Amino acid sequence: MVLSTTLGFPRIGRQRELKKATESYWKGEISEKELVETGAKLRGENWRLQQEANIDLIPSNDFSFYDQVLDMCAIVGAVPPRYDWNGDKIGLDTYFAMARGKSGTGAVTPMEMTKWFDTNYHYIVPELTKDMSFNLASLKPLQEFREALQLGIRTKPVLIGPVSFLLLSKLKEDSFDQLDLIDSLLPVYEQLLRGLSEAGAEWVQLDEPCLVLDQTPEVLRLYRKTYDRLKQAVANLKLFLATYFEGLRDNLNTALELSVDALHVDLVRVPEQLEAILSFGLPEGKILSLGVVDGRNVWKNDFEQSLAILERAKSALGSERVMVSASCSLIHTPIDLELEEGLDDEFKNWLAFARQKLHEICVLTRALNEGHDAILGELETNAAALGSRRSSARIHNPAVKTRVGQIRPEMSRRGTSFKERKQLQDEKLGLPKLPTTTIGSFPQTREVRSMRQRRRKGEVNQEEYESFVKEKIRQVIELQENIGLDVLVHGEFERNDMVEYFGEQLDGFAFTRHAWVQSYGSRYVKPPIIYGDVRRARPLTVDWSRFAASLTNRPIKGMLTGPVTILQWSFVRDDQSRPETCRQIALAIRDEVLDLEKAEVPIIQVDEPAFREGLPLRRSDWQEYCQWAVESFRIVTSGVKAETQIQTHMCYAEFDDVIESIAAMDADVIFIEASRSDMELLKVFTDFKYPNQIGLGVYDIHSPRIPSSEEIVELLMKASRVLRPEQLWVNPDCGLKTRSYEEVEPSLRNLVGAAHRVRQALWG
Ligand code: GLN
Ligand code: ZN
Repeated sequence: MVLSTTLGFPRIGRQRELKKATESYWKGEISEKELVETGAKLRGENWRLQQEANIDLIPSNDFSFYDQVLDMCAIVGAVPPRYDWNGDKIGLDTYFAMARGKSGTGAVTPMEMTKWFDTNYHYIVPELTKDMSFNLASLKPLQEFREALQLGIRTKPVLIGPVSFLLLSKLKEDSFDQLDLIDSLLPVYEQLLRGLSEAGAEWVQLDEPCLVLDQTPEVLRLYRKTYDRLKQAVANLKLFLATYFEGLRDNLNTALELSVDALHVDLVRVPEQLEAILSFGLPEGKILSLGVVDGRNVWKNDFEQSLAILERAKSALGSERVMVSASCSLIHTPIDLELEEGLDDEFKNWLAFARQKLHEICVLTRALNEGHDAILGELETNAAALGSRRSSARIHNPAVKTRVGQIRPEMSRRGTSFKERKQLQDEKLGLPKLPTTTIGSFPQTREVRSMRQRRRKGEVNQEEYESFVKEKIRQVIELQENIGLDVLVHGEFERNDMVEYFGEQLDGFAFTRHAWVQSYGSRYVKPPIIYGDVRRARPLTVDWSRFAASLTNRPIKGMLTGPVTILQWSFVRDDQSRPETCRQIALAIRDEVLDLEKAEVPIIQVDEPAFREGLPLRRSDWQEYCQWAVESFRIVTSGVKAETQIQTHMCYAEFDDVIESIAAMDADVIFIEASRSDMELLKVFTDFKYPNQIGLGVYDIHSPRIPSSEEIVELLMKASRVLRPEQLWVNPDCGLKTRSYEEVEPSLRNLVGAAHRVRQALWG
């Protein structure tokens, strides 16, 4: 028999129950008991849902009150000393303190958070020190296994594998090798696995996604040693090793030879992996779990294509050695398509969310076990749905395809050098040295948010809404003039989420009402779905920028989001390559740039905060990505005249990997986050001799703190010693949308004051 399995199911609840419960708990509105009960209820629902769908191996411990890597820290007792943990079992308060920090008495900073591979999920980064010890400090996997067993379901507990756990951590002191900790870490895993086995577990899933990354021979050796040891310690427990998000490539033979009972591979990202595995040979007795249903996107599976892959595996390996699954955990997809009453039937028929994917996995499994005839009806409806999508006029716009086909190299070149442009722009803009500006958004007060919401619900009409936004723009222009900023913005009051804002106005994007996906902790996002050729039917932002410009004699900048970021933060088409979709978006935004120029907006900023996170997981793929990502940005920005200034913004400080691409984007000015890194990143920009202008963030907008003029002066002096002072701008790290005016106004005054003092000091 071929078995079906999943690697994990969304834990947030159909109605975002987990968010509501955790946030209420944090506010003290519900008790720990109530929170714990909500968790149990959600787990029970998920198990039952999967059981009803006919999934054979159902995961447990995929539930988490915050994050699965943080759970793993708790399980192995990797609690940094600042949380004053007494060494007993870890309670919820210590757990949440690690996740979120604590303010007031006993204030403590949270652990760091970073992106989970190339997804938009963020995990808590474990902290390692040389002499730390581990011990089994949370019995969560055991408790949840027993909880499911009581409901009659023998689950497959999921753990982060020990090698990935170490590799995903950060070192809190140098001069040691994190891999050395494996000897003290493994006994805890062994103890836990033994416990699970005694409790009745047959399978345990160990996630080792680091196996898809570039690894040294030393790491690969450690993988072998680790799994040999684990297998020896718990010989009667079956180990299911999960890899996902990329192919195993040069790590394939290591993965195949590990002492485990089943290996899971992502055949959505890399379908060719199967042939590589079969030709290398799957060692005797081992099971291959085939991730054929896309665990990270929202499209209906192509049964015909999946069955071809599955049958190939089955005929080569036999039924007993094949499992059917999703490519990765389903936590990266929304829960249930049935909730989307707002979507029309034709469109809905192209989609599958987590719950629908369970059904897909089981139908495919059934086809393998009972023959394709057993699912004839399913095969027909599936083919019909896919056929309707392929040929739909809603998806295909010949004009867009023709236009992309006609992109010429000149369209992604400014035509004049930076030096020439700079001179023309200086003449036109008449800015002082060290010009001051912001990144775009001003505080989104309750008033602003509620007005947008009321417009959405139809409680205010378009006219009332527009006059409200205009009044806000008027106020923010006056404020900026009063503070003395040099380049002004309109404040972005009309936007909630920027990708949503642009997507809503472009053809080819769809929006859902309930399709939430966890981003981190209790923060969920609702990414738009790019389903068709992207086209801009009418100007998007021009009226707001033109209105802002009419209110002041100072230069205004237009505010747009770049194509790479829009692509990165959406569910994308799977019937067309990412670069192709990115170029379509680029052409749409290019039209907007040209219309802004026509409306005499002298400066246009195109934000690309997601540029770096789009980097592929393997270094050898970076160049290709950078090439099309940079080209897309340049398609957007290269149509304008030399005197129109192009600016961009990226809100992170790790530029080592992408500095060349950033220079190749050839923006006249780039604004980056810098205040927290104490200008360390300057080194990257100076080593590389970054040619164009740079605004280094001197105000940390992630903190409520108001920076003093003195400290900003110091940062600017530091910067001006390594970069040419003529290159520099003065600005906050990122948009001000999450801050309050009480913080923003004095901070910006100090920023402007500091710029004046440094101008005085440098040029007299
Ligand atoms: N212009 C945007 C803002 O100021 C940029 C947002 C971002 O970098 N994520 O809000
Ligand atoms: Zn930013």
